[in-house]
Amino acid sequence: MQHATAQGRTGPPAEQLEIINPATEELITTVPVTTPQQVDAAVTRAAAAQRTWAALAPADRARTLRRFASAVDGHIEELAVLETREAGHPLGNACWEAGNVRDLLDYSAGGVERLTGQQIPVAGGVNLTFAEPLGVVAVIAPWNFPMPVAAWGTAPALAAGNAVLLKPAETTPLTALRLAELALEAGLPEGLFQVLPGEGPVTGTALVEHPRVAKVVFTGSTAVGKRLMAQCAATVKRLTLELGGKSPNIVFADADLERAAAAAPGSFLDNTGQDCCARSRILVQRSVHDRFLELLEPAVHAFRAGNPADAGTDMGPLVSARQRERVRSYVPEDAPALIRGTVPEGPGFWYPATVLAGAPGDRAAAEEIFGPVAVVLPFDDEDEAVRLANDTDYGLSGSLWTRDGARALRVSRAVAAGNLSVNSHASVRYSTPFGGYKQSGLGRELGPDALAAFTETKNVFLSTEPSTRESP
Ligand code: NAD
Repeated sequence: MQHATAQGRTGPPAEQLEIINPATEELITTVPVTTPQQVDAAVTRAAAAQRTWAALAPADRARTLRRFASAVDGHIEELAVLETREAGHPLGNACWEAGNVRDLLDYSAGGVERLTGQQIPVAGGVNLTFAEPLGVVAVIAPWNFPMPVAAWGTAPALAAGNAVLLKPAETTPLTALRLAELALEAGLPEGLFQVLPGEGPVTGTALVEHPRVAKVVFTGSTAVGKRLMAQCAATVKRLTLELGGKSPNIVFADADLERAAAAAPGSFLDNTGQDCCARSRILVQRSVHDRFLELLEPAVHAFRAGNPADAGTDMGPLVSARQRERVRSYVPEDAPALIRGTVPEGPGFWYPATVLAGAPGDRAAAEEIFGPVAVVLPFDDEDEAVRLANDTDYGLSGSLWTRDGARALRVSRAVAAGNLSVNSHASVRYSTPFGGYKQSGLGRELGPDALAAFTETKNVFLSTEPSTRESP
């Protein structure tokens, strides 16, 4: 079978994935891929483990997940170093990512004993609802945040009583494999949480098409997400999609401009811009446009690109040569660059911080670049800011900077996106819901309702009518 992989490789399916350090271009290791036959066997093992897991007392399931969280906590540094090597993330960021896995496991464990149903008043009896696990859940993760995004699906799915088969991205399977080892050490039943490395069109497809996989949680490109949605229709699989974004950062003239400019670099340069929430469209009110850019320039230059293992590094390389080619394609030689950062010389998939003067409809202003590139678009008034912010098929995140509280709420309500921040760029917390409007996704992850996305509601009615015959 010939196919084109997510890495752009064509040809027969690979037998091994080559894991490359993006900061040095050196081969770290190779990882065997999971064949469709192995996927089938994994589903059978997962289904058996799920029955054992769902039958455990809720308090025991919660305790086991907390042990998994403790095991992750004891290996934060090791997991972070792995993430730095395979994904090029600065070590400080990678430590936060491993900590996010721990925190989400802990938070989800708290939900196990609170997964209550309802008692609904009806005539002639008692009506109860139960939150039943779905069974076997497939989580297909991307390479941009390999650990946290894998955990966003995995932790609540396990807490709700499901088994999880995790397919990490081709370039970044190492932290996922280590997490599966830690899960076993923590006492999760064998087969309950399995990591199946492989290529999207082969291993991923085998999971998506498998009749005994009840749900797919996918994070990645909108193009693949749409294809998966169609494939899931064949078996009416449940589906959560976290797709792309082209999020606005709206700076009003009444904002604290110094604060807004100081925060802006992190909002599109963090993770080298490989972030579905990246605020890659900076909308600035025309009357403060020039002043804002004066303040932004030194802040961009202060965001240091360098060796991800060094403590002072803010930004590492892009994940792969392919991703660098993609990013370059948005910035031709004659692109109207307002600000250009610097990157280390030599090997590594480096790309400098870049701020472009944009115009609505430009390819760089319209498409998700997934690199350290933002466009600046001026606006005249609030109506135009909202119109520009919504002028996209995406709707994941957004920020607005203003000192006017009424405007902050008005504009937050008017922007069609799932996650808005006022005078801040924070949009992801394990305890608050996360997900997209429009083509940015389907469903929500994280937050107090996360477990519900991994259950079916079962309704049971018990008649309380007296029996026609008296029992002896
Ligand atoms: P992708 O969508 O191709 O890959 C994401 C995951 O899906 C990987 O695990 C991949 O193996 C798997 N996959 C790919 N094709 C599949 C298929 N047919 N069936 C099942 N699984 C499949 O993303 P990518 O190529 O790694 O990145 C391309 C672009 O996607 C990026 O430049 C960016 O714009 C976007 N992206 C967005 C996010 C996000 O968090 N929203 C994450 C990664 C990539």
